[in-house]
Amino acid sequence: MQLSNELINDLQHMIEKASRERLSRDDLKTVCEHLGISKLYYDVDFEDDFRFRDNRVGKVVADEEIEGNKIMLYKDGQQTGLCLKYAYFFDDKEYVHSYQEFKIGVKKEDLDLEALKLFADLLYLLMSRRNMRKMLDISQNSDALTGIPNVVFLQKKYKELTRTIPEEDLLLIRLNLQNFRYVNDVAGGRAGDEAIIQYSRKLCTFVADDEAVCRLGGDNYVLVIRKKNLEAVQRKLGSVLISNLKSAPGVTFNISTWMGISEAVKGRRRPFFERLNEASAACELAKGKLKKPVVYFDDELVEAISKSRKILSMFRPAIQKREFVPFFQAKVDMRNGELVGFEALCRWIHEGHFIYPDQFIPVLDKNSLIPELDITIFKATCSAIRQWKNMGYDVPVISSNFSKKNLYVMDIDERIADIIDDFGLSPDCLEIEITESVKDTEYEQLMDFIRKLKNKGIRISIDDFGTGYSSLSLIHNINADVIKIDRSFVDKLPDDRRSRILIESIINIADRLHMSVIAEGVENEKQGRALLEMGCNKAQGYYYSKPVDFEAATKLLESTAFRPMSE
Ligand code: C2E
Ligand code: CA
Ligand code: CA
Repeated sequence: MQLSNELINDLQHMIEKASRERLSRDDLKTVCEHLGISKLYYDVDFEDDFRFRDNRVGKVVADEEIEGNKIMLYKDGQQTGLCLKYAYFFDDKEYVHSYQEFKIGVKKEDLDLEALKLFADLLYLLMSRRNMRKMLDISQNSDALTGIPNVVFLQKKYKELTRTIPEEDLLLIRLNLQNFRYVNDVAGGRAGDEAIIQYSRKLCTFVADDEAVCRLGGDNYVLVIRKKNLEAVQRKLGSVLISNLKSAPGVTFNISTWMGISEAVKGRRRPFFERLNEASAACELAKGKLKKPVVYFDDELVEAISKSRKILSMFRPAIQKREFVPFFQAKVDMRNGELVGFEALCRWIHEGHFIYPDQFIPVLDKNSLIPELDITIFKATCSAIRQWKNMGYDVPVISSNFSKKNLYVMDIDERIADIIDDFGLSPDCLEIEITESVKDTEYEQLMDFIRKLKNKGIRISIDDFGTGYSSLSLIHNINADVIKIDRSFVDKLPDDRRSRILIESIINIADRLHMSVIAEGVENEKQGRALLEMGCNKAQGYYYSKPVDFEAATKLLESTAFRPMSE
């Protein structure tokens, strides 16, 4: 075969072109024609007995080396032809990157090795560029931990889908895993990562080709699905089993989700991120305030969002106008009806009507404004104690609530101690209620907070005890004075066995650790008696008194006592 310098020139040009832009199939075809190549294979797995794309099996009958490249004859059925294999060796392993099959009749002597080598270089360049592009594409479009698509990919896919599918047929769903931190708490962070990977893979199988999934990070995902498939997907999401984790063998976690759904309005095209924001807002409410597994972004939700914006804008002026005041709820020793304390609970009195904590506490908490409120209520509580003392009353210990956001407030212990000092009070007439913490990351801070306040002589009470996962293990390490049994357990008394078992074990441990126990939310005698039987003597609840204002609380200080719980 006569090969011209022209061909070599052409090849060199092609290599240059390939480093700048894509080569067409036709470019390659022409060169193959000139080189006598009838078939070209590259970027495929080769074996010695290689399998052709059309499934013929070629058997190598002889091979020989030409300048580091293997040239071999292979037998294909009746015919014998010439092939050239380009390979490199690494760690004694052969990596073939291209393979050329020559036209029948081409002989070894006919081959222009220089041109063939150039051609092989060109193929290698194309291949590595393609792989590089693939890798880049993967890293830009997929989540690093799980390898499933990320939001960049989902946005593109959404655009692509809406070209053929009407927007109103597609639901955009934001997912958050329910109680996922439980996996981290029980099995540790590494198991958490493993669980996320396993969950992500399963999640990908829930959607069809014309639907999509992505991971946003943490335990957050987004789905784009056809409306008609919602029920099926929801069923699958309701219970996903995660098991066989290397870092937690033998444990199976059953994971369900919070879902926030954005529906499209007919005839109104909206950008992807607008819908994602809607779905996220709905999901936030699903797991936060509403505690409902599925929440749609609708008019009701828009109103809830505008309400919380309103609260935020009203907050500072309300502090200045002293609209936040403490109400006081009695704590009673059920054995003799004696008033043993008060809990100060915040009320917002705005233009003559009440706004209750469940309407504003979560909003303030989320926006980190709550420490300011807590300090305001604490000051007002100290002021009330001062007044009662001046009026000559014997004032029992009064507790005040502090949100966990205070764990991150600098010198919070100093501020609290200064306020107590300013009102001329002794620290032991006050108690700080803080809710039980479950996050690993908060645990250290919680201990630190408690240690600092205790050093200042202030009592600590652990609120809503029993609602976190790690309660019973935590209690040993937390140096609190009081444990408040959560209302949700008291609610189910006297009959619920699980509540009884839990309450009994809390009382047991508290006794051993010399902590005092109080039950909250006692509404009737049956509950009170059940608690007494189990050894919890103190209670707070509507059975005795609702939270009342300063004047009504003064009357409670005056009156002799509540009615003892009959045995
Ligand atoms: P909490 O600290 O668990 O307070 C107990 C809540 O249960 C109070 O609701 C109280 O009125 C209510 N409660 C008491 N006895 C009964 C009963 O027998 N039955 C029923 N159904 N409920 C009863 P409230 O005052 O609406 O406060 C709700 C939550 O808001 C509080 O829960 C607390 O977490 C938070 N909160 C209130 N004031 C403050 C504050 O000044 N700072 C902070 N950070 N949180 C506060
Ligand atoms: Ca409380
Ligand atoms: Ca509570």
